[in-house]
Amino acid sequence: MVLDQVPRVIIIGGGAAGFFGAIACAENTNGDVDIRIFEKSSKFLSKVKISGGGRCNVTHDLVDSLSFLENYPRGERELIGPLTRWSQEDTVWWFREHGVDLKTEEDGRIFPVSDSSQTVIDSLTSAARNGGVITKENFHVNQIIKSDDGGFHIYVNGEEKPIEVDFILIASGGIRSGSSRELLHSVDHKYSYPVPSLFTFEIKDNELNDLSGLSVDHADVEVSSLGIKNSGPLLITHWGLSGPVILKLSALGARLMEKINYQFTIRVNWLGDTWTNDRLRQVIDSRRDDRGSRIVEKKSPLKEMPNRLWKRICRKTGIKNGLKWSELTRDSIIKLINHLISEEFEVTGKSLNKEEFVTCGGVKLEDIDLRTMESKIVKNLFFAGEVMDVDGITGGFNFQSAWTTGRIAGEEIARRCMT
Ligand SMILES: Cc1cc2nc3c(=O)[nH]c(=O)nc-3n(C[C@H](O)[C@H](O)[C@H](O)COP(=O)(O)OP(=O)(O)OC[C@H]3O[C@@H](n4cnc5c(N)ncnc54)[C@H](O)[C@@H]3O)c2cc1C
Repeated sequence: MVLDQVPRVIIIGGGAAGFFGAIACAENTNGDVDIRIFEKSSKFLSKVKISGGGRCNVTHDLVDSLSFLENYPRGERELIGPLTRWSQEDTVWWFREHGVDLKTEEDGRIFPVSDSSQTVIDSLTSAARNGGVITKENFHVNQIIKSDDGGFHIYVNGEEKPIEVDFILIASGGIRSGSSRELLHSVDHKYSYPVPSLFTFEIKDNELNDLSGLSVDHADVEVSSLGIKNSGPLLITHWGLSGPVILKLSALGARLMEKINYQFTIRVNWLGDTWTNDRLRQVIDSRRDDRGSRIVEKKSPLKEMPNRLWKRICRKTGIKNGLKWSELTRDSIIKLINHLISEEFEVTGKSLNKEEFVTCGGVKLEDIDLRTMESKIVKNLFFAGEVMDVDGITGGFNFQSAWTTGRIAGEEIARRCMT
């Protein structure tokens, strides 16, 4: 840093983590630092805009920090410290202070009361503007070169003349593109290989796909070959299965599933684990006793099971149209129960869920000092957000890690600028 000169901070990436880092730096330096956000595209905060179906699921209402951490398949242990320093409660507080009223939905997801991500964008852009942060769109950082004075030369948009800076925060998002990885090479940082997370399962089964749009609230889904299972709402789509339980499984198994080319068997309990074999047997026996003359296929005896799905399961188990409860054989009862709580499907691929999609993989956390987000390899270089090897399941956890890491990096850069 040149003495008597205002410190120069460049934030690479105008997403959630970049903006939060820039704002934190500005809030703690009272306009005494030159802070600039360089964004390669023509739009800042474009993922915030489309996030949560246009509503932006800002964070999640899980105050117990251990339960919160369980939602990060990558970063669960490493985020313990950072989330203590900037928690979901801090995020809620910050947004309320900056004009965004938030509400918590039944499942714990937190959204702006306006149900519009634009409210979040307006709040971030005005906080940045008020803090004197300069924003530059169409500024693609191609390369970073360390200079001898501890600062950097950065090259933008292929130009030959570099820009000199004192501190850099890399908040460039998921590293699936080659150019993102090039940037990391230029600062000697290793990364774990990027693969998709938060995708849905492709299952080619016409009878299932015909039920597209149907959902059950509490399914258990298990991929026994990979040793993972999860529970939650399950949605049938025209290409297979989706919904929170599938997205969570895809996050938990992101790497393993990529290795086996997204081809594996899943076992679905359509009713959730409260429905045991014995309990189902009792329901079926009582139907046989009390309503023996009624047609089995006609109406689901379980409120958890939509009628159309029930009909499909009856057909699958060979229960013919017109068969009465009293005519059910022992063999078809066993098959019926088996399909209800343990139906198998072959997954043949993944379909990206356009609603929510993150990268598993990023800058290795062992090379980052997680108390400050500074690189352990290059002094004065910081990281925040999805560029790091941290990713969460759906529900606001990915933005929370962007707010947390951006905040911590921005505060530390401010502290260093002021000393
Ligand atoms: C459709 C969708 C919906 C989502 N919904 C939610 C949700 O509701 N809740 C939630 O928690 N998470 C959600 N996520 C995930 C969440 O959006 C991301 O985890 C989060 O945006 C990561 O923030 P970031 O700032 O690290 O990266 P990004 O938001 O990706 O921002 C990085 C920015 O850096 C820019 N950049 C990259 N390289 C360079 C370069 N070399 N020079 C200059 N600029 C560069 C990129 O153009 C980009 O604008 C969603 C994701 C998607 C795709």
